[in-house]
Amino acid sequence: MVNVPKLFGSNVFNDDVMKERLPKPVYKALKATIENGETLDSSMANAVAHAMKEWAIEKGCTHYTHWFQPLTGITAEKHDSFITPDGDGKVMMAFSGKELIKGEPDASSFPNGGIRATFEARGYTAWDPTSPAFARDGTLYIPTAFASYTGEVLDKKTPLLRSMESISKEAVRVLHLFGKTNVNRVVTTVGAEQEYFLIDKEMYDARPDLIFTGRTLFGAKAPKGQELDDHYFGSIKTRVAQFMAELDNELWSYGIPAKTKHNEVAPSQHEIAPIFTTTNVAVDHNELLMEILKKTAEKFNLVCLLHEKPFAGVNGSGKHNNWSLITNEGENLLKPGKKPEENLQFLLFLAAIVKAVDEYQDLLRISVASAGNDHRLGANEAPPAILSVFLGDQLGAVVDSIEEGETYESEGKKNMELGVDVLPTLRKDTTDRNRTSPFAFTGNRFEFRMLGSSVNTASANIVLNTIVAEELKEFADHLESVKDVKAAAKRLVARTFKKHDRIIFNGDNYSEEWTHEAERRGLLNLKNVPAAVKHYMDEKNVRVFENNSVFSKEELFARYEVDLENYAKIINIEALTMLDMAKKDIIPAVTAYVRELTDTALAKQALSADIPTTLETRLVSDLSQKLVCFADKATDLENDLIKAGELVDDMQAYAEFYSDVVFADMQALRAIGDDMETQTSSDYWPYPSYGEIMFGV
Ligand code: ADP
Ligand code: MG
Repeated sequence: MVNVPKLFGSNVFNDDVMKERLPKPVYKALKATIENGETLDSSMANAVAHAMKEWAIEKGCTHYTHWFQPLTGITAEKHDSFITPDGDGKVMMAFSGKELIKGEPDASSFPNGGIRATFEARGYTAWDPTSPAFARDGTLYIPTAFASYTGEVLDKKTPLLRSMESISKEAVRVLHLFGKTNVNRVVTTVGAEQEYFLIDKEMYDARPDLIFTGRTLFGAKAPKGQELDDHYFGSIKTRVAQFMAELDNELWSYGIPAKTKHNEVAPSQHEIAPIFTTTNVAVDHNELLMEILKKTAEKFNLVCLLHEKPFAGVNGSGKHNNWSLITNEGENLLKPGKKPEENLQFLLFLAAIVKAVDEYQDLLRISVASAGNDHRLGANEAPPAILSVFLGDQLGAVVDSIEEGETYESEGKKNMELGVDVLPTLRKDTTDRNRTSPFAFTGNRFEFRMLGSSVNTASANIVLNTIVAEELKEFADHLESVKDVKAAAKRLVARTFKKHDRIIFNGDNYSEEWTHEAERRGLLNLKNVPAAVKHYMDEKNVRVFENNSVFSKEELFARYEVDLENYAKIINIEALTMLDMAKKDIIPAVTAYVRELTDTALAKQALSADIPTTLETRLVSDLSQKLVCFADKATDLENDLIKAGELVDDMQAYAEFYSDVVFADMQALRAIGDDMETQTSSDYWPYPSYGEIMFGV
């Protein structure tokens, strides 16, 4: 039996450990840093480092690492041991405050979007005391921020922390106007629901596409997909249940509050959701969670696929970023209360968010743009590429009446009659769910649903925090200048809802009509990475990041370049993998099958001219034609890859060529490949089929 409370956080240098091991003044100073964002005096660092090292050694650690989040999209770590020569040819275990606070990894090989030349390779990592260190596989992990020698940010944590500062500052200003002068800090909270696929390791090893790209590049539909909806919330298979139990234990030991787990819509797809926490900790937790998902799967001879679209024809995987704001006094600012229509403070925050989503649709879209996510957004399953806000019936009606200048008649919370006496009467939630909305109000938070399953959640939260901070700043500027704050706030709320009404949509986001309706409303529909990131450098976007000290123009431009380059590289790898599979596996396999068919036909005819060989002849002819066509498409793809290379000096054009031309070539090649798969004997087909992979666990 697992003792969960004892296990929870046992690998974390958490509050209990700090309280127990740090001298009181040091503990107090560190706590002030963590809770109030105060700068930690460097004289304290030695004491913290010492306590951390002692604790880590007890946990079996020999090394420490500054764990950071460069623009590669994954985390990075370089391990240094604690050993220091003691002068007598022996070593002791040492760890100084300086080593805790600052690291200097050679940064030349991390993406920087042209910010630094390689001769200025130096990069710095700086300890983030607000995210707890942890012990893992013999190493003490210290969450850090990563910047260049000249101070430009090269990671995702620094801008996230900056955006949290900014939104805190502006939200506090607004709250002070409402008389809440005890509030000195507002933090954003995040709970990230994570979807993933789990497949057998043997199947994975037999697929070069999964190995090199994380998704299948060929694969005909299985006879059964997700049409029966029998996987969603279905009973969990033993092997998967064992994996999930081990996963929970691992996550708990790192202080990740894993709460909910269930099967998802597609066969072999699942979800895990921890309880929400402060944004930067939630982001770090999600990075660690993805790592632990993969490592735990290995123990069960399984592979965890985090790609947004591992299989065509069934749902892909996303991440739902539940987001809210909470004050240092514990008030959730997105809690509408019993009478939202009278809760002016809530309505003001709501209005700021609605305005932010409308004005910065492009930035929110950019924050979730990735090659993998292009397969989901707009592909009739995940939310579409169009941003809109779902408020639900009650709140929608409140907002409507504010816009119309009418009084809202509340119907209150209703009971739900289940019609069976032994069952308890349930209180109905005032917001129903709308699973199709990209940005949905869910009672006491917003759920941003456009994130891809493999992305770092920092990007979305950087944008969300920054744009809402900007609107709050605008509101505070205005309200601080008026006499009657309440009356002015009421007018501001009404004005804002009226002006940004177009972004509110409570209907079915997957429907064809919505695409047209959204176009009529003038909402953006940015279908792929190059189309989305093109808006990075729009004047208003540069301004909002600069105003809130989140990115400088140069830093933003660097991100734009990195995103484009990354995108092109991914499609390029996929294209090369397809060509490899086509030429080395698929063409030889189908040719061999054709030869067997030919041999069979010849043998039959040799036996007697009366034996029909129509089937073999037909198949041989059909497959032979398709082989030629397939080879031609492969050649097209090869030629276009060469053309792409010529565009490399213009990153935008280069990336667009990959999305418009190369990707289309890949689709065309795949279509014939998948068609041949359906006609080729499985003895000859070189890869496990969709059916085998998805139903194989
Ligand atoms: P769903 O029914 O949407 O799948 P889940 O229970 O799977 O819901 O996930 C909901 C997520 O929202 C959890 O991670 C939960 O902790 C998080 N959440 C709840 N309240 C807040 C809040 N105030 N701020 C941020 N996240 C929250
Ligand atoms: Mg869920």
